[in-house]
Amino acid sequence: MQIAIDGPAGAGKSTIAKLVAKKLGITYLDTGAMYRAVTLAVMRREGSFDDQAAMIKIAEECEISFSDRQVFLNGEDVTDAIRTPDVSKHTSDVAPVSEIRDILVEEQRRIAKGTSVIMDGRDIGSVVLPDADYKFYLDADASVRAERRYKELLEKGTDQTLEEIKQDIIQRDYNDMHRKSGPLIKADDAVVIDSTSMGIDEVAKTIISYIDQ
Ligand code: C5P
Repeated sequence: MQIAIDGPAGAGKSTIAKLVAKKLGITYLDTGAMYRAVTLAVMRREGSFDDQAAMIKIAEECEISFSDRQVFLNGEDVTDAIRTPDVSKHTSDVAPVSEIRDILVEEQRRIAKGTSVIMDGRDIGSVVLPDADYKFYLDADASVRAERRYKELLEKGTDQTLEEIKQDIIQRDYNDMHRKSGPLIKADDAVVIDSTSMGIDEVAKTIISYIDQ
């Protein structure tokens, strides 16, 4: 079974996907973490986000792996390092590069092959797994998404204001929706769930009830 969850930043995709994966006993793949890991690798090498050829080379050399809740880049645990506001911002320089997307999409398909998986991202239902058994597009009002992200970041100790987070989210969504390669779109056959006034459990239940049908 293959399940695709796409949607804008902060819609709750990864929290929901993790819950559903646990309930169904299937693999969860956070594809955003892969774009973040490549972004971090470029930053660590002090690469220029204007130099596409150098970024592609770095992406080719990145070994990204996952364990239960952790993300590893070339063997190093980068679970927290890929969540900084700087990395979030610069994913918009990495994600439009079609050669980098090809590398990551190929890896995502390899992981999905022959196993039951739930993947979240921007292009899962449209590009990565166009034949997925179930596709969902998870959306929510930008203010609500920003508040959720703000609460999450506060726990980790952020110095960003709610308004800054909201503007970052709006800008990132715009970039994700307007790039040529693998833009954020709702696949024609995706079920739209607006989680603006829904709790996490309610969204997870809604998704599972679609699958049970
Ligand atoms: O999902 P998350 O917010 O962690 O993703 C970070 C960024 O990675 C997104 O804003 C987007 O630019 C990029 N991304 C992508 N395609 C995916 C997943 C994430 O372009 N499938």
